Amino acid sequence: MGLVFLDLNGHFRFMQKIDEIENLIKIISKLPGLGPKSAKRIVLKLVNNRDELIKPMAKGLADIYKNIYSCKICGILKPTSIDCSYDNCKILNKKYNKICVVESIADQWSIESSNIFEGYFHILGGTINSSGQKKDDLLISSLVKRVKTQKIDEVILATSATVEGQTTAYYVHESLNSTNVKVTKLAQGLPVGGEIENLDDGTLYSAFKNRAGLNSESN
Ligand SMILES: [Zn+2]
Repeated sequence: MGLVFLDLNGHFRFMQKIDEIENLIKIISKLPGLGPKSAKRIVLKLVNNRDELIKPMAKGLADIYKNIYSCKICGILKPTSIDCSYDNCKILNKKYNKICVVESIADQWSIESSNIFEGYFHILGGTINSSGQKKDDLLISSLVKRVKTQKIDEVILATSATVEGQTTAYYVHESLNSTNVKVTKLAQGLPVGGEIENLDDGTLYSAFKNRAGLNSESN
């Protein structure tokens, strides 16, 4: 049964509509960097490789859906089998005295892979922004509770150098006022408008090295 063919311009054309295929194309075109055209190519590749691709992919997705969550306290990704408390996700055996606050898991991964920072992460889950994300939508109060519960000496605000990132950093800093913890912010080396996940290791390194204190006594 011919499902798809290439027309003279090199475009894929569907000869028939199959709901399952159409649905999958719609879902895949929502992924970052993919439009309907690349989604069609992907689906075609999948249906032509049922055992090699569809089967393991379906299992992988089901496993992640069932077993992996982002922690409601610190925001990191973790298996459901691992408990979390304000005393840190038990995923970490080591004890640290620093928490690095980032907007997203992608930011955590960038900082981790650069090996600049040794400590806990706290993922806010976004920024306070004009499209309606509010302070209460972010994991800010659980950060305050973490700082109060553990022996934390420093909270490093590693939000992006965008208006949203800086507004968010301001609110996080304000929320931490009652804890007396030292709060620092990535400063020099971070280009204006720079998003953490897109920075190269060198820029990140310099931003961490030159982080500035936000508490009045450390300025
Ligand atoms: Zn956690």
